[in-house]
Amino acid sequence: MVNNTYPRSRPQAERGLPASRRRFLAVLGTATAGLPLLGACGAAAGGPAAASDRRGSTDGAPPRVRVSQEASPGREVKRTSFPITAVGLTWTGSPHGVRLRLIDRSGKPGDWQDVTAGCPCGKDAEALRTKSTTPPNRALVPAHGSYGYQLDVDSGVKVVEAIAIDAGHLGRKQRPAPSGPPAKSAPATTPGTSGSAAVAFPPPGLVLRADWGADEAKRLTADGRESSPTRFTRVQAITVHHTATPVDDPDPAATVRAIYEQHAVSNDWGDIGYNFLIDRQGAIYEGRYSGTDGIPAHNADDEVVTAFHTFGFNPGNIGIALLGDFGKQKPSSRMCDSLVRLTASLAARHKLDPLAGITYLSPTSGKSTDGPALGGHQDWTSTECPGSAAYLGLPDVRERAAQLTR
Ligand SMILES: [Zn+2]
Repeated sequence: MVNNTYPRSRPQAERGLPASRRRFLAVLGTATAGLPLLGACGAAAGGPAAASDRRGSTDGAPPRVRVSQEASPGREVKRTSFPITAVGLTWTGSPHGVRLRLIDRSGKPGDWQDVTAGCPCGKDAEALRTKSTTPPNRALVPAHGSYGYQLDVDSGVKVVEAIAIDAGHLGRKQRPAPSGPPAKSAPATTPGTSGSAAVAFPPPGLVLRADWGADEAKRLTADGRESSPTRFTRVQAITVHHTATPVDDPDPAATVRAIYEQHAVSNDWGDIGYNFLIDRQGAIYEGRYSGTDGIPAHNADDEVVTAFHTFGFNPGNIGIALLGDFGKQKPSSRMCDSLVRLTASLAARHKLDPLAGITYLSPTSGKSTDGPALGGHQDWTSTECPGSAAYLGLPDVRERAAQLTR
């Protein structure tokens, strides 16, 4: 996908400080107390020391997430005082125009690596404001506990923001148990048209936001309001994505927290952009917040919360992200099984035929667009997401999901 429309708008770094950026600084103020942060946000460090440390919280509090943010980073080496889980990048220009190398604790640089733009998700409101069909390029590069990074960019490419994220650690008692029972009692739900337990929603073992360590304060402005208030609409479609992060991820819950940090704060969306995420072991994670009624992704009227995963087609579209990069490598069988189980449960709940085509009506723009009831991101917009290997597996997922709902 060549992204040549968005740069016509002013880069994010030149827009001044929106309300949520002030919130970002406030978050930094408590989360990074005493740390010699680099860049524009370094001056914000201060305030009371965080209660937890890198051993992970033991009192059920979310893990301590630390961030070093750079608006318009140059080519000089950026160092952090904490081990980096991932570097989040936002840039305009060629999606293939950025390279990065990691810096270890002693200051030694690793090899240069090409950065691949990930799933180009975004808020529909952003699409309307910029008149753009595509958001800027974004990527989340795993950093394996490095203590710095350096960027190299092609001419015509502008990195408008870089964030180094320490996603923290869950306490031992907080580790998600993918195959275990539901973390809380099953909410009052209809099991679907077939009445089969195989399509009950939510699927057993769903890793709820509290279980993967979502810090709910990141959704809020400094005065405690939701920075992206939840909106619910009738379900029209289910769309599969990939996160373009490594397939062999040693700590998927930390990656989910890093994605949350990038989406909610750096991208200024106020929350994670997907409704659900699935890891290699088949664990299903609750994504976008949907209230306190205990029904993930939905309200009591069975409408779905609008997330930020398919630019221009978000309301009524349930976004499921596969954790990993599936351009060449196929998703694991456990991941596929969970995708089938989750999509079947959603299809049954909303009386969608996984094999059918639909006409999606955007409540935001009023436009109608034909697409699949159960499809991939690339069915809606020009992108490689969810990766060719995952996309080629979707007919099988549709067929299996349809069989479960019969
Ligand atoms: Zn996507």
